[in-house]
Amino acid sequence: PPSVLWFRRDLRLSDHAALLAAAESPRVLALFVLDEALLKPAGEPRRAFLYGCLRELDEAIGGRLLVRHGDPAKVVPEVAAEIGAGSVHVSADTAPYGRARDERVRKALGDIDFVRTGSPYAVTPGRVRKGDGTPYRVFTPFRKAWLEHGWRRPADTGPDTAKWVDPRSLDQVKIPELRVDKDVVAAGERAALDAWRDFLDGPLPDYATDRDRPDRAGTSWMAAYLRWGCVHPRTLLADLAPKRSEGSQVFRSELAWREFYADVLWHRPETARRNYDERFDRMEHDTGKEADRRFADWCAGRTGYPIVDAGMRQLLAEGWMHNRVRMIVASFLVKDLHVPWWLGARHFMRHLVDGDLASNQHNWQWVAGCGTDAAPYFRIFNPVTQGEKFDPDGAYVRRYVPELAGVQGKRAHRPWELPAGPPQGYPAPIVDHAHERQVSLARYSAVKG
Ligand code: FAD
Repeated sequence: PPSVLWFRRDLRLSDHAALLAAAESPRVLALFVLDEALLKPAGEPRRAFLYGCLRELDEAIGGRLLVRHGDPAKVVPEVAAEIGAGSVHVSADTAPYGRARDERVRKALGDIDFVRTGSPYAVTPGRVRKGDGTPYRVFTPFRKAWLEHGWRRPADTGPDTAKWVDPRSLDQVKIPELRVDKDVVAAGERAALDAWRDFLDGPLPDYATDRDRPDRAGTSWMAAYLRWGCVHPRTLLADLAPKRSEGSQVFRSELAWREFYADVLWHRPETARRNYDERFDRMEHDTGKEADRRFADWCAGRTGYPIVDAGMRQLLAEGWMHNRVRMIVASFLVKDLHVPWWLGARHFMRHLVDGDLASNQHNWQWVAGCGTDAAPYFRIFNPVTQGEKFDPDGAYVRRYVPELAGVQGKRAHRPWELPAGPPQGYPAPIVDHAHERQVSLARYSAVKG
């Protein structure tokens, strides 16, 4: 009998282990289910990116992608029954919602096999463990064990790996059209591989230093492609293997962070919402109208701290923010505005095209000091000196904050010190960093206990 290949976070045809497994059947039906539970919390750039990926995937297999709308636990068994499928193949989803959804689908399929092959990670979360079988709680030993564990070579797959079922006689919905007036990365597998080639041929050797510079195009932009599976990390790791530069070592380490956080979330799914370090449940947060107003200023990029505002506006304009700036704005929200990390994390998840529960929630917890090997809480980022250090000429700030476009050089990081005050239309700082830092430290002492 034919099989169904149900695509989710694996929107590609190359290096696709589940495709290889599905292709053991004589014919394969390619399926994607538009699931409101995942679409609803996603902002437009995220959805537009997803639809772009689906469109490309559909074209690559000659218009044979079947798209339906609804609850997968209903849709997947229906489709399988309609074509008389003997099995449904997927790449494993290891995040909390995906795990629960897949259990419901597996049960609803009854006698039809539900086969998980591979995952969005080089090493499937849950596999790398300490000698005594317990999970790692600290990154550096995890990375070492992860490297020692190793991974398979990329799977040799492509559009011709399977004989695709023509779904034209089946009910289906069109891939939604959604044009966003934003500067979002190009969607799809081809764009992913092109961007990766550009990175290998360009910034990689200088990645160790340039990755911290938001004013330079020094990073790979792979996160959204990895999030939606337009490229598999094994493909990237295989391309990096022969390279000896410091840049390639550091890049591999960044991929290890992605794998580490997926592993942490797999073992502790409740940390998507809760503090990994439970002592932080006692942390005092600001609430009320004033706190709400400050949170809204942060979301809109109107805090009066230029590097924070540039980052928040980059997020709104591109569905992406530079990593160094993500750390600065997150620290500012938690430690200068005393707003709980999960509110910032939710805003990020809505707007980031690469928004990924494991990486997002755990990076937020790292910044907030309540996660795995967290940054020491007392290391509170100073938004002004961080800006001056990592955007030394103020170019990044001027690009995203037009009110400051006329302020030359690093003075763009201290507009309140300009002889005539901050330029017209740009706010004065909404809080005093030195004061809020003291407030944070006092509250932290109470938590540490
Ligand atoms: P590059 O510098 O080119 O990095 C290469 C790849 O390594 C990335 O694509 C990513 O897959 C991985 N990576 C790099 N840094 C990290 C990290 N700190 N943690 C986990 N993986 C990493 N990354 C996401 O993919 N999704 C998120 O939702 C997300 N939310 C974040 C929230 C906060 C508060 C912070 C501080 C970081 C967050 N990150 C997240 C990590 C990081 O900022 C992005 O992966 C990176 O900026 C994406 O750009 P890039 O692909 O050009 O990165």
